[in-house]
Amino acid sequence: MYRARLFAIRHAAAFEWIYQRLERLMIACDPVFARIGYERVERPIALVERGVKGVLFDCKMCGQCVLSSTGMSCPMNCPKELRNGPCGGVRPGGYCEVKPWMRCVWALAWDGSSRMKGGDKIREVLPPVDRSLKGSSSWLRVSREKAARLREAREAARTTIAQAFPGARANEPAVAPLATEPASAVNREQRQ
Ligand code: SF4
Repeated sequence: MYRARLFAIRHAAAFEWIYQRLERLMIACDPVFARIGYERVERPIALVERGVKGVLFDCKMCGQCVLSSTGMSCPMNCPKELRNGPCGGVRPGGYCEVKPWMRCVWALAWDGSSRMKGGDKIREVLPPVDRSLKGSSSWLRVSREKAARLREAREAARTTIAQAFPGARANEPAVAPLATEPASAVNREQRQ
């Protein structure tokens, strides 16, 4: 598994690309998930996520994945589970203080991030782990939240346009004229 982790970090850019596509797909599936029920799809998706990420990243299913911010190096593999950079005990060559055979996950995170388009995210301070989310699917939670934000934004845009037109017509009819009724839409009886 450790080898797979090193492989993932060397190919962090490819995994970043793959994850972005997966996220788009999951967001597109939001209406389907909503219809089936998010509680029902949680278990099977979490199982797939556990399997895939367990092999590739030694994922511990913390439920708040930060791989995109840590160069595909899972911080939960740090023996101290540090989420915001290394401790002060990193050994020469970037090895872990507690497990000297292992590279520090944060040394690897820096390496992986330098290969990613969104590598600057490593500079952002991450919130502490919420243990209540352990075991849940991070993929599903993130895509569900993003889908909800997109829905709200679309709804807000529709409302703004709908509200703006009557006001614009009242103040200045020329800026928002009523469209002329197309001939095809006029009642045939009226035309005869
Ligand atoms: S950050 Fe959490 S969800 Fe992501 S790979 Fe690590 S343990 Fe798994």
